[in-house]
Amino acid sequence: MTCLGQCMGAGMFLRALSLASGYFAHNHVLSHATIGSWPAETARILAEKGGSLLAYHEPDPDHMREAVAYRELTALMGTHPKLCRLIDHEHERARATATATEPDVLPATAIALENLSRDPSVFVFDPNLACTGRIMAFLQRTPTVHGALAGPKPVELPKRSALADGHDNPTFKVFVRVRPPLAREARYTRAYNVTQFTTKSGLHGKEIIVSDSAALKTAQTHSSRAPEPKFVFEDVFAEDCSQSDLFVQAVRPLLDAALADGVDATVFAYGQTGSGKTYTIEDGIVPQALGYLTSHVEAVRATYVELHNEVLYDLFSGVNPTLSEVDGAFRLNHAHVITATDTAELLSQYAEAAARRATSGTAMNERSSRSHAVLSVTVPVQHGAHKQRSKVTEVTIHFVDLAGSERLKRSESVGQSRDEAIAINSSLLALARVVHALVTPSHKAVAHVPYRGSLLTKLLSNAIGGRARTVLIACVAPTVDSADETISTLRFATCASLIRNQVDSEAEKKRKQLPTRTALSQDQSTVLSERAASFKADFFSGDPVVVRTELGDMEVYGDFTAGTHAPLCIMLHYYGQGSSGGRQFVPWFDRIRALGYRCLAPSFPGHGRTPGTLSAKPDPEVLAQGPCRWLSTLFDHFGIAKAELYGYDWGAGIGLEFALTQPERVLGVVACCASYRDESRLQLLKQKGFGRKKLCFLGRKNSQVHLWSKTVKQAKAAGVESSLAPTDEDALDAWIAHLQSSRERKSKKKPTMTA
Ligand code: ADP
Ligand code: MG
Repeated sequence: MTCLGQCMGAGMFLRALSLASGYFAHNHVLSHATIGSWPAETARILAEKGGSLLAYHEPDPDHMREAVAYRELTALMGTHPKLCRLIDHEHERARATATATEPDVLPATAIALENLSRDPSVFVFDPNLACTGRIMAFLQRTPTVHGALAGPKPVELPKRSALADGHDNPTFKVFVRVRPPLAREARYTRAYNVTQFTTKSGLHGKEIIVSDSAALKTAQTHSSRAPEPKFVFEDVFAEDCSQSDLFVQAVRPLLDAALADGVDATVFAYGQTGSGKTYTIEDGIVPQALGYLTSHVEAVRATYVELHNEVLYDLFSGVNPTLSEVDGAFRLNHAHVITATDTAELLSQYAEAAARRATSGTAMNERSSRSHAVLSVTVPVQHGAHKQRSKVTEVTIHFVDLAGSERLKRSESVGQSRDEAIAINSSLLALARVVHALVTPSHKAVAHVPYRGSLLTKLLSNAIGGRARTVLIACVAPTVDSADETISTLRFATCASLIRNQVDSEAEKKRKQLPTRTALSQDQSTVLSERAASFKADFFSGDPVVVRTELGDMEVYGDFTAGTHAPLCIMLHYYGQGSSGGRQFVPWFDRIRALGYRCLAPSFPGHGRTPGTLSAKPDPEVLAQGPCRWLSTLFDHFGIAKAELYGYDWGAGIGLEFALTQPERVLGVVACCASYRDESRLQLLKQKGFGRKKLCFLGRKNSQVHLWSKTVKQAKAAGVESSLAPTDEDALDAWIAHLQSSRERKSKKKPTMTA
């Protein structure tokens, strides 16, 4: 809408424009504007809209030149003449007299009208034709975006993340996800590079370095170049990261913690429009999290609301919920609550509601979310070590899919879409202000955090600086054309990583002692067993096959003749030129099959017929990010829930790291001459359920490469035994013995059937 505001009416308009800019057109007329404090966003909003203010002012005792509105309008006209024209009637009349022209003023008179208002005098504008014509022409001007001010104004942000400074921040974790290039980006080069990062105190993270096309050009022509922006985060999920890997690494620990101690949790995605937020939250995390949560509790309750143009809508019912403030906390009222007992029912209701979200196509994203959406799932939790004395409470987990910020020029938004973009940018700016206030040391005892700046910041107040645990996933595009947006997203994420939520310290202690999960969820198991059934029993018989996995092609040797449901053994080869990949284990298959096992021996990238390369470094993070992800993908590909692992050298390191990170998929590990760089980490194996019966270390005394003393040390750290296996034949014997005792234990456990 276009506004003509008089006196306090002009003030009300200015306030409304800053709170809900999406409702307003670009040009507005003010007369005798009066306002107590000037909304700081005014200039930016006008600039984004490509509009301006035409303000008429008749100085009088009620509308003095010293008043806020007059001063601010004058200042705005001084700094940004395109955004404001203030006409002081007195000066204008003087000018007109001097030049013998008609004054450009908006005259008004008071007339008496009984029964129409409390005060019989009514203010009536009385413009002449010329003035009316000028105002109409002004209002009909097409918007022109004023460059310098367009886009959310960046606030000065801290340059280093918590992790870069050596601090772990368990209450607010920040991850980055880089999506693969879209078709429209095919012609651009990549703008980033990711490397391992280890703090002096031994914390691991990832560093992402971003360069725009200008930096790339300088790099090609000059040997030295300006330092590129570098950012350090908990992890950076690369373009090929699957939805399930992301869930397992970034979200599942958060859900486990919430279920264990009843502390609320929030996952949200942040990034420019088209960077993959909706793909990450709504397509990836939500379905997996709902499956996970429903498999842990009997019933869940859920609400799902969206914030569109600063108005709240309920996506389950279509009504308008409200937000109220009680003791400084914001609460959502009248949201429709659904209750579900099984995943399928919940997912179908969720999908139906998600389809109601406000979306539209822009140049940056064919299905751009024009609203922020918050799905809140509440589940019962039981705390306390003793079941009888424990209390049952509830915990709520929020999944937030923000609408993305966009530069209006790039997204080519016009009309409604443009107003939406402005509303989105305004609320994201309010979010940035909240984050900024939280991480800026204040001289006052308690810094003022401007949660009231927008509905979005009110909705997220518990997640950001509140009492919940939060995971932020900063989504970025891979290519140079988006480098500026990527850098600004990573700056925001860096700043957010410094937020300390006030999670109860007892709860934090408990999170650290969380038992490791040893079982797959019901849903995961179902999917896997369906996949497993699709491979015929005699799928392989020692001949190599190249399978197409999510990560790429992989050569696999195998023998499935023991049957679709037979337990499985996986053999992991050593690294290096002499290695023939999985082929080296083919001679072992007969003996393993004879025990009733299926066999798989993959060739990791760079070995056998598997293309690509993988780092040989036996550091835990390198193993986890590289070969362990291939292994996990292989499990998924064949529908393997759990397997026995044997590894030699590099392969043994892979097996150990896989057992540490995905213990629920490992029956046992036999590690021969293991390459594994962090012995102290092997202590964790016991906690993950790998004691003497499920883990053993083999070594050689005659090898220059693999020192026996190293094997002994590794076994000692893990608290298990080490044995000598001078030849491959000995190693196979030792593994067979391990498998046999594992089978015996299993069959003892099984209840015997009685006729
Ligand atoms: P946003 O919500 O940030 O605006 P979307 O999630 O809608 O962005 O993603 C934009 C496009 O990119 C969609 O077509 C989506 O399917 C695709 N996309 C995003 N992330 C990935 C990914 N990790 N892998 C494959 N495609 C992706
Ligand atoms: Mg989206």
